[in-house]
Amino acid sequence: MQMPLTSDKEGFHFRNMSEQQRQFASDNYAGVCPEAWASLEAANHGHAEGYGDDPWTAQAADLIRDVFETDCEVFFVFNGTAANSLSLASLCQSYHSILCHEYAHVERDECGAPEFFSNGTKVLLVPGADGKLDPDAIEACVKRRTDVHYPKPKAVSLTQSTELGTVYTVDELQAIGCRAKHLGLKLHMDGARLANAVASLNVAPKEITWQSGIDVLCFGGTKNGTPVGDAVVFFNHELAEEFDYRCKQAGQLASKMRYLAAPWVGMLSDGAWLKHAASANAMAQQLCQGVGELTTVSIMFPCQANAVFVEMPRSLIAGMHERGWHFYTFIGEGGCRLMCSWDTTPEDVAAFVSDLKELSA
Ligand SMILES: *Cc1c(COP(=O)(O)O)cnc(C)c1O
Repeated sequence: MQMPLTSDKEGFHFRNMSEQQRQFASDNYAGVCPEAWASLEAANHGHAEGYGDDPWTAQAADLIRDVFETDCEVFFVFNGTAANSLSLASLCQSYHSILCHEYAHVERDECGAPEFFSNGTKVLLVPGADGKLDPDAIEACVKRRTDVHYPKPKAVSLTQSTELGTVYTVDELQAIGCRAKHLGLKLHMDGARLANAVASLNVAPKEITWQSGIDVLCFGGTKNGTPVGDAVVFFNHELAEEFDYRCKQAGQLASKMRYLAAPWVGMLSDGAWLKHAASANAMAQQLCQGVGELTTVSIMFPCQANAVFVEMPRSLIAGMHERGWHFYTFIGEGGCRLMCSWDTTPEDVAAFVSDLKELSA
């Protein structure tokens, strides 16, 4: 018997949602990678202690300490906004300020959460080419005013890889680390896409974090293949004091913590995190090459991670959207962001480039 669609809403929903086309809109469009899924499934047997006192959380934190080759403090929270804003709040008093790039996620995409969770610490914006901060621009912002009427600069937040798909080199990070220390500033890294930076630079993760002076890192998993849950990693132990209370008060202490932690075990135990990041980076390179050959399109920033930013005419953007391609156009006039994910394939890239070619003709 045929069921009327109105009384079968769930079935109707599922039939239409299965196997959607892969997109270049965001790396969070992608699903969960097999390694993270397998450990999540493995964690779903029997009982385990709540609030992070379970073996999965302990193992995930140990694996993160192995990755960074140091004894750091690890906390799992639900997402990157919580990781960034709570960790930044732990570096500052309300009368302080946090310096970040004008395109930083903490400034543009967190609805004021860093200011909210720090009880009003002001975010000060620093310009810089290709989404990067440089030591002189940081110093200029700090030295602009030294009187009591100015919110006292206390921390620098930088994003690796950046919001514009570029990557800070080890030298660039060390220069920022030195200057921050000299100026008495704490250093925070938004590592929502740290994996892509590590894969791109092919360095030990410690080189671009604590060895470059990073005090606290927000280590993203979601964009690289976990379902949910980012890690806050304190290399500076003092700053981690009472961070557990901060998480709990902000609604970020998961009762069934093992489900945030277990995917990390799958990601980190056999290097899946770097394999997936390297694959996304490689697809971005292919995409960059493909679209770079078209005279209708211009590449906006060096492609060093898993993003390609292009400028193209509005008619072309509309044509691609009409053909069902999703992507964001929030950078300047006609600037499009194309993100590759852990599961992006060469065929996806070829299909996108082919449609762009046809519409350009
Ligand atoms: C995605 C992202 C985050 C985290 O965002 P949530 O949606 O809160 O998980 C943080 N920083 C950058 C640069 C990002 O791209």
